[in-house]
Amino acid sequence: MDVCESVGACRMNPYLKNLTKIEFVVTYACTGRCKHCSEWDHTSCGERIDPQTAADAVRKIAAEYDIKTVMAFGGEPLLYADTVCAIMKAAKELHIPKRQVITNGYFSKNAEKIREVAEGLAACGVNDLLLSVDAFHQETIPLDTVKQFAWEAKKCGIPIRLQPAWLVSATDDNPYNRKTREILSGFADRELFANEGNVIFPKGNALEYLAEYFTDGFPENPYAEDPRDVRCVSFEPNGNVLGGNVYGRDIMEIVKGYAP
Ligand code: SF4
Repeated sequence: MDVCESVGACRMNPYLKNLTKIEFVVTYACTGRCKHCSEWDHTSCGERIDPQTAADAVRKIAAEYDIKTVMAFGGEPLLYADTVCAIMKAAKELHIPKRQVITNGYFSKNAEKIREVAEGLAACGVNDLLLSVDAFHQETIPLDTVKQFAWEAKKCGIPIRLQPAWLVSATDDNPYNRKTREILSGFADRELFANEGNVIFPKGNALEYLAEYFTDGFPENPYAEDPRDVRCVSFEPNGNVLGGNVYGRDIMEIVKGYAP
């Protein structure tokens, strides 16, 4: 027997040998218009990834790779909660440990709909809900509605972490960061607390509206991926992934044929 076959390594694409994460930009459509957003203005972008195609891709990739995390984000992914649930349900059935959703928490003003979505997320196995709240999101996203969703999700038993965007650094004293700290403190009475958050990277709107804060050079891009050592496969709403498109080719053909 070939040595590679014996360890099951040769059939894998060497550029993805450390793959442990699958992520979906469910849609670029968004309820927010944040001035720190890396995706510019989110106009004319209502497209979303097809739920069954996405769930199938999770199943096929996880059959070959030791996937630890499946993540859904956007835009605002909960505008298409059915898609998020299809993805997370597949991940739960495959016992993928971390099933993560990043949301701004504002996809409806309707209390019944908010409750329904929270219950749906709990049922499909979301176990790490990252709620983007800070001075930037709350310029256009109503905090009361976000809190309503957070309380419903908490009631359903979903673990929630607040994920603020910091300007310059988490400790920098600027008006945005001061406002963010105030907003975060409004969740403490429900025992919802922030993780370390992320430092805004100058791209898209951030580059246009916040340039004056990036005088000391640009921070490191936290999302940069080494194309020769892909650890996370990322799907766009139109099905683009790893230089191919999942609507045109089987995902495993794309994975096997990937080259930087
Ligand atoms: S930062 Fe998030 S919530 Fe704000 S506009 Fe961009 S995708 Fe939407």
